[in-house]
Amino acid sequence: MRRPILAANWKMYKTVSEALAFVEAFLPRVRDLEEVEVVLAPPFTALEAVGDALGGSVVKLAAQNVCAESEGAYTGEIAPRMLADVGCSYAIVGHSERRQLYGETDEGVARKAEALFAAGLRPIVCVGETLAEREAGRTFEVIERQLAGSLARVPEARAEELVLAYEPVWAIGTGRTATPEIAQEVHAFVRERLVKRFGEAARRIRIQYGGSVKPDNVYALMALQDVDGALVGGASLDPASFARIVRFERPEENR
Ligand code: PEP
Repeated sequence: MRRPILAANWKMYKTVSEALAFVEAFLPRVRDLEEVEVVLAPPFTALEAVGDALGGSVVKLAAQNVCAESEGAYTGEIAPRMLADVGCSYAIVGHSERRQLYGETDEGVARKAEALFAAGLRPIVCVGETLAEREAGRTFEVIERQLAGSLARVPEARAEELVLAYEPVWAIGTGRTATPEIAQEVHAFVRERLVKRFGEAARRIRIQYGGSVKPDNVYALMALQDVDGALVGGASLDPASFARIVRFERPEENR
């Protein structure tokens, strides 16, 4: 009932020519995929070239950030309609690196999500607890607060277009993946909060897991009831690796 969505977050990696080399190697590996939605989020500088190279393929384009304003004197910022103009369907908002390194707040994330919807784009809203918060037993309180704040301005009628990404901060780029039990527990909690907020429509909202997803652990994560996709950093930079992830096949040794 929920179409899996697997997204590559390239962060600040790849020039235009490196990004195009990825697309050339990646597309033939995923052309036949119909049941899953595949999304690439290159840096801003490569969006247009990657969008053109993807053409009418099944793979969609996302930005890694966006400005909440539609235009104006905001030096260094990129507006939602500029992303739409170069072919983006999605934008990631509230990634933990932006929250931690650039002071992004739940209120700021909410305004960005609202601006994306207004421009016809879909936000991928990230939430997740730090290691200290988990160890202090505060995971659910933190996730609840982030969800309430970050989703405060989502139009009810557009709720199904929203994508949520649960990314425990302690699992991002660390090689330490959440166990399937932890992932399912938090995803089920996120689903329950979404249902409270948006009603039955929330059963159709996709919730991605993110945090050291690799070709060898993606199968177990995708098998979980409330995991509807993955947001992938490091392992999405290599076309063969990300192509294996988007297929999330059971690893050989477990067959
Ligand atoms: C991310 O950047 O969203 C991420 C999950 O990174 P990694 O897969 O490298 O942990």
